[in-house]
Amino acid sequence: MQSAHRAWAEIDLAAFRRNLKRARQRAGSAEVWPVLKANAYGHGAVAIARVCSEEKVERIGVGDSGEALQLRHSGVKLPLLVLGTIIDAEVKDLLAHDVEVGVHSESRVRKLGAIAREHGTQLAVHLKVDTGLGRLGVRPEVALRVAQAIEDEPHLKFRGLMTHFSSSQGAHSTITEGQQALFLAAADEIREALGGLPTLHCANSAALFSGLNPITDAVRPGISLFGILPADVCPDALLEPVLSLYTQLVFIKDVPAGTQVGYDGRWTSHQATRLATLPMGYNDGLPFRVGKGGRGQVLVRGQRCPIVGAVSMDYCTIDVTHVQDATIGDCVTIIGKDGLEVLTATHVANAAGTIPYEITCRLGSRVKRIYRDLQTNDYSSHSMHSKT
Ligand SMILES: *Cc1c(COP(=O)(O)O)cnc(C)c1O
Repeated sequence: MQSAHRAWAEIDLAAFRRNLKRARQRAGSAEVWPVLKANAYGHGAVAIARVCSEEKVERIGVGDSGEALQLRHSGVKLPLLVLGTIIDAEVKDLLAHDVEVGVHSESRVRKLGAIAREHGTQLAVHLKVDTGLGRLGVRPEVALRVAQAIEDEPHLKFRGLMTHFSSSQGAHSTITEGQQALFLAAADEIREALGGLPTLHCANSAALFSGLNPITDAVRPGISLFGILPADVCPDALLEPVLSLYTQLVFIKDVPAGTQVGYDGRWTSHQATRLATLPMGYNDGLPFRVGKGGRGQVLVRGQRCPIVGAVSMDYCTIDVTHVQDATIGDCVTIIGKDGLEVLTATHVANAAGTIPYEITCRLGSRVKRIYRDLQTNDYSSHSMHSKT
C-alpha cells in the first residue's frame, strides 16, 4: 500500500523507553533528566515528554520558555527546567506555570527576584557554572557570590547547581575531567559557605555513555535517548535509533548520457540513467549539501541510491538505474533500515558535513510524525512498514 504522506518520520517510543532505561543503568543512583530541547531533537517534545511522565523521570530540560509552556499547555506536569537563559518578558508566564530556570549572573538573580516578588510568588532557579564551555554560566570564582545572592533573595528558591561539558568525547577527553573537577570544587565552596547544596547536575550523553562517573545527583542526556551518540564515544552503548525517515517515489524518467540534473546543473549523467524524484527537499530537513559531491544516499527496495544534483526546496532527485523494478509509490528510506541496508542520522550528517543533531532538529514541519509504541521488544515487526 502506498503511503498517504509525502515525507514522514516514524518515532519509536518503545525504543526511546529502552534507551532511557540504558541511560538509567549508566547513571546508577543519579537521576536521569531527559533534555528535550528543539522539539525533542525533532522527535516531537509533547509525545516524548508524555513517555517521560509514564517512565516517571524526575525532571525535563528544555531549551527556552516557549518549549516549557508548550509542554505545560499539553498537560505535562513534570518539573521543567529552561536550561538556557530567559528574557524578562517571559518570567510572568513561567511563574504562572511553575517552570524552573537557569541563572548566570548576580544581576539576573536580583532581577528575577524582583519580578517574582512583584507577582507574590517564588521562582526556582539553577545556578549554571561555566567550567569550560565558555557560553552561558558564571565563572567558578564568582559562583559562591551568585549562590549567596540567590540564597538572600526570598522570592527565589535555589533548586540546582549545574555545569555543561564542552567535549563530544566525554570521559575520553581530559577537558571533561578538568571541568568536572572545577565544578566539584565550586560546589564544595558553596556547601561550606551556605551549609548545604541544591541538586548538583551535569553530564550530557557523551559523558554519561563514555563512562564518566556520574558523581552528581542528576545527569542530563539528550541525543543518546534518541539512539544517536556523538562519534564513537561508546561503541557498546546498545542504543536504538528512535527516528526513521521516509519518503516515496513520485516520478521516474529515463534520460540519456549527458543530462544535467538540478539547479546549476551540478550533476551530469555519464550514461543512460533512470532518475527518480522524491518529494522531499531542504525545507523538509534534507540538507542542501547532501546533493554536493554525490555523498548522499537513500534506500529503495533495499538498495542504496545516490542523491544526484542539488537538493531543492521541495524535491530531490536520485539515481535508480540499478534498481530494476523501482516503481512510483515505492517507499524511500532516508534514515532507517530497508532489507540488509541501514542509514542513520549520522550517515546523513556525514554526507552533509554536519552533526547528527542538526539532521533531526531540522526536520521540517511538513514531515508527518507517526508514533509507535510497541510494548514488545520485537523491533523488526514494524521497521519494514514500507512493504505493507
Ligand atoms: C543540550 C544539552 C544537554 C544534552 O546534551 P546531549 O549532547 O544531547 O546529551 C545537556 N545539558 C545542557 C545544558 C544542554 O544544553
